[in-house]
Amino acid sequence: MRETGDVDLSLGDDLRAFVDASPSPGHAAAEIARRLTAGGFRELAETDLWELSPGAAVFTVRGASVVAVRVGTEPTAEAGLRIIGAHTDSPTFKVRPRWDVRQAGYRLVGVEPYGGGLWHTWLDRDLTVAGRLALRGGTTTLVTLPGAPLRLPSLAIHLDRSVREGLTLDPQRHLQPVWGADLGTEPGLLEALSTAAGVSAGDVVGHDLVLADTQPAARAGADGSWIAAPRLDDLACCHSGLLALLGVSAETRHTQVLVCNDHEEVGSGSASGARGSFLEDVIGRLAGPEPQAFARTIAASKLVSADMAHAVHPTRSERHEPSHQPVLGGGPVLKLNANQAYATDAVSGGWFTERCEAAGVPVQHFVTRADLPCGSTIGPLTATRLGLSTVDVGAPQLAMHSVRELASAEDVPLMVQTFRSCLGTTG
Ligand SMILES: [Zn+2]
Repeated sequence: MRETGDVDLSLGDDLRAFVDASPSPGHAAAEIARRLTAGGFRELAETDLWELSPGAAVFTVRGASVVAVRVGTEPTAEAGLRIIGAHTDSPTFKVRPRWDVRQAGYRLVGVEPYGGGLWHTWLDRDLTVAGRLALRGGTTTLVTLPGAPLRLPSLAIHLDRSVREGLTLDPQRHLQPVWGADLGTEPGLLEALSTAAGVSAGDVVGHDLVLADTQPAARAGADGSWIAAPRLDDLACCHSGLLALLGVSAETRHTQVLVCNDHEEVGSGSASGARGSFLEDVIGRLAGPEPQAFARTIAASKLVSADMAHAVHPTRSERHEPSHQPVLGGGPVLKLNANQAYATDAVSGGWFTERCEAAGVPVQHFVTRADLPCGSTIGPLTATRLGLSTVDVGAPQLAMHSVRELASAEDVPLMVQTFRSCLGTTG
C-alpha cells in the first residue's frame, strides 16, 4: 500500500497549521473564511441581496458555520450541486456564564462538557480558553488567552488507589479547570480575555468560550508521517474539503459547495447546525425563485458528508469488524450502516467509488461490528432534511474524541484529490 520515500507531507503540515489556528469553532470558521478570501472568494452577508453569475466564488458565515460556493456554468436546477460537508466543532468544555469558582484556596473556571469527549485525556494538559466575545452594539471578536493558564490536575494515586480499577470522573466535581490561587484581588477571566482581545471588559456582553489544548499539532510516528493533534475530528475534513474547493481550476456545469457546520458533536440541532436551515437557505438562493427549481436542484445534487473514520486500533483490533479494518495512510474510508446511521447507499457509494477511481485513490470501507452501536454524522441529518443523495466518508484516524488524536499526513493529499474529483466531476 505504501510507497516509501515519496511521501509528501506538505499538505499534512498545512493541516497542522490549520488546526493550530482553530482552537474553537469560531476560530475554525474564521480560518476557513481567511483562506477563502485569500483564494479569491468574496464574503456575502445573509442580509445581502445575492446576485450570482456563473463562476462567482462566494461564501457566507452563520455563527461558527461556513458555506462556500463556486457557481457553475448552468442553472443548479439543470446541473445540480456537488457538496462537501464537514463540521467545525469538537468535544470540549464550554465556559459557563458565571464562571468564577473559588474553593480550597484556588480559583477555578466553571465549565460544562460539550459533546462526548474522552475526558480523562484532558487531565494534566496545558490548556487555555478560546472563542468568541459578544460586544456591546452587536459585534463579536475572537480571542485566545495567551500561554497555557489552565489545568485539570490528576489526583495523586496515593490519594485514591481505586483508580487502578478504572478512573471515574464526575464532570461537575472533577472537571473544573484551575487557573490560580484565590488571593481575592486578581483580575477575572473576562478582564484577562478583554485585555487579550484589546477591548474594554465593560463592553463584553456575552461569550462562546471553550477550553483548548495549547500543544501545537506535531509530526509523529517512526518516519514523521503521522499527525498528532487536537480536533482532527473534524477539522481534517474541513481542511481537505477547503483545499479541494480552492484547488478546482476548471469551471464546471454544476455548482460546487463546501459546508462546514458547527454543533455536530451535540446533535446538530441549532440555527447553524446541520439540522438547521443554513445549507437549505443557501441552496434556495442558488436555485432561484422558479417554483420547481429547488426540488430539481436537490434531485440533481450529491452531498459528500466528510467526517473522520476509525482506523483499526493497534492493540484493540477486535473492536473492528474483521473484514472492515481501515488503516492510517490507506486513503478515504467509505462508511456504511444497515440501520442508516450513515447515509451511504448503493448509488451514492458507487458514485463516490467512481470518483476515487478517477482520482487514482484507493477506497477503504468501514462498518461497525454487529454487536456494537454506530456513531453518526451530519450525513443522515442533511439527507433527511433535504432529500439529498448523500455518501458518508472520512479519513482514518485513531483516538477519536481524545484531546490529542492521531491521523496520517499521507491521507491528506488522498482526501484532497478525492474531494477535488467529487467537486470537479461532471458525472
Ligand atoms: Zn466528527
